Amino acid sequence: MNDKTHFGFETVDEKDKARRVAGVFSSVATKYDIMNDLMSGGMHRLWKAFTIQIANVKRGEKVLDVAGGTADLSLAFAKRVGDTGQVWLTDINHAMLSVGRDRVVDKGHLLPVAQCDAEKLPFPDDYFDLVTVAFGLRNMTHKDAALAEMRRVLRPGGRLLVLEFSRIWKPLASAYDLYSFKVLPWLGQKVANDSASYQYLAESIRMHPDQETLRQMMDTVGFERTEYFNLAAGAVALHRGYKL
Ligand code: SAM
Repeated sequence: MNDKTHFGFETVDEKDKARRVAGVFSSVATKYDIMNDLMSGGMHRLWKAFTIQIANVKRGEKVLDVAGGTADLSLAFAKRVGDTGQVWLTDINHAMLSVGRDRVVDKGHLLPVAQCDAEKLPFPDDYFDLVTVAFGLRNMTHKDAALAEMRRVLRPGGRLLVLEFSRIWKPLASAYDLYSFKVLPWLGQKVANDSASYQYLAESIRMHPDQETLRQMMDTVGFERTEYFNLAAGAVALHRGYKL
């Protein structure tokens, strides 16, 4: 029997999940940035600004942006590492990566770009000072394998930052559900001509491990000093862990 996983609320064969996720991001790539601003009322910029602040990237550091998509984080890091550092923009999806690469070039940066699966990163052991994954882990089939790969490519002392949707403060849950399951698909239909992808977004958020479960997953693959910061009443959380 094939191993099963979830794609939103659907149960699917593990071998089919990546293809289904690819369908979502290939469909929304050109409208991805505008949809982010509309859906979050611009708040995703604040969540990313907080991530950039906590990342505290220094000149000369080597940074890997996993599932980097349209390159918001890569661009911010590129400004900080200077000529002696490196920022790799990576993603499994060609359409998302193309939008990201074009944005990077339009802003006057030249970054290495690689299309790759977070579960099999094409980088040597102990290489990066910082690995980030923003709103990407939720979509991965084997999150533990992806986290282990991120740890493998970090140098000892390096840090991982995971920015992801998480479990909202309970009193806000029913209003958030209404927004997620009614407004998001409607907005997706109007702006990106695709309600299904935004229905998947709402469902995949509900299926993603909560703050404490993700922190424990990071512990299990060997990260140390793991902790998280809740943002927007826990709708989003930033997790941090070190490879020591
Ligand atoms: N990091 C960007 C941001 O914060 O705006 C993009 C996030 S977007 C919601 C999720 C990204 O995860 C998509 O670009 C998708 O292609 C990528 N992704 C999904 N599964 C992946 C995997 N197994 N390996 C690498 N990237 C993956």
